[in-house]
Amino acid sequence: MSNSVATTSSIPDNLHEIVQTKYNKALSDGNLVFTKSESKLLKNTDGNTKNQYWVTYAPSLKEKPERKDITDNEKSNPFAKPEPELTVIDDLEGDYKLLLNKFPIIPNHLLLVTKSFESQTAPLSPKDLLTSYNLLKKLDNDDESDKRHVAFYNCGVNSGSSQDHKHLQIIELPGKLKTLQDKLVKKDPGHFIPNHKKEPLKDNSIPYAHFVVPLPDPDGNDVDEDLLAMVYSSLLQRTLTFFQQWSCTSEEDKRLPISYNFMMTLEWICLVPRSKSNNGTIGFNSTGYLNMVLVKERELYDKILSYFEDGTTNTDAVEDVKTEVEGEVIKIDDILLDCGFPNRGDAKPSEYDY
Ligand code: AMP
Repeated sequence: MSNSVATTSSIPDNLHEIVQTKYNKALSDGNLVFTKSESKLLKNTDGNTKNQYWVTYAPSLKEKPERKDITDNEKSNPFAKPEPELTVIDDLEGDYKLLLNKFPIIPNHLLLVTKSFESQTAPLSPKDLLTSYNLLKKLDNDDESDKRHVAFYNCGVNSGSSQDHKHLQIIELPGKLKTLQDKLVKKDPGHFIPNHKKEPLKDNSIPYAHFVVPLPDPDGNDVDEDLLAMVYSSLLQRTLTFFQQWSCTSEEDKRLPISYNFMMTLEWICLVPRSKSNNGTIGFNSTGYLNMVLVKERELYDKILSYFEDGTTNTDAVEDVKTEVEGEVIKIDDILLDCGFPNRGDAKPSEYDY
């Protein structure tokens, strides 16, 4: 990576149009494999949690190999020499390529990959953060569309990533979905840098650990590389505490590999520490912790929907989001917890947490 500081962005103003044109061509030429999916917005009224979930049934995921299914011999790096047909910008800010995801479930799914190999276990650099933020700004502020986007980074083997070459991803958020981060920031919008006196925002009714910081107004000039790096490093430090504590308290003589999901919109940044990528029923990457649940099996999808009183397709219906595994009823939030760490709720942090 070069040491240059990206103070001015070379991202084209008509980025959305460039992406759409490239996407349409790649799709019609068969260079990209898009499989239609169906999605529903479900609302949870169980207990204290008033979470929404965007549940998507995508059978195409069944064909897509997961990290555990790919043998070392088969492992090749698709981002070392990306396909030109999928390359939206070949040289972005000197250090990156902007690619289309070859197997999208959401149209125009973008990948920001480093030009030279860096590991997906590495922390995000200030430049990674600012470049992604600037991409979000260009995409969200496009005159032709009113879409909102999220950037995410699945860091470490238990984060749900499948590729080892450093890549952030950008997708459009479903218009109707209010993520748990959106709700927290709506209630408490003021920006701050967390420390042991002021914890990141979290919803104590959510069982899994998550840390959220509101960002300053994107129309002002307050968001720069330094601010993003400060927010990220304070959240990362908070996240790493979970791994330290696990290794101190675990009976297994084994350290858990550091894994977490990073998510960013123009309004907030969130980190979620991860203990597993999959609990045997559903696997999650960052999108799971944005309340977007991808289901590969029809049976599982139907079981989730069967909790709707009348099996209605009404996306505004209010019901518990539960699913059934081997006769046992479990909640999506429980699976998210199983793949993350417990939310310590009101426990007061100390300076050792930062
Ligand atoms: P992750 O699974 O989170 O590590 O993200 C990697 C993404 O790269 C997946 O969503 C894949 O669909 C996508 N992908 C795999 N192979 C290629 C390729 N040859 N070109 C572009 N994207 C790819």
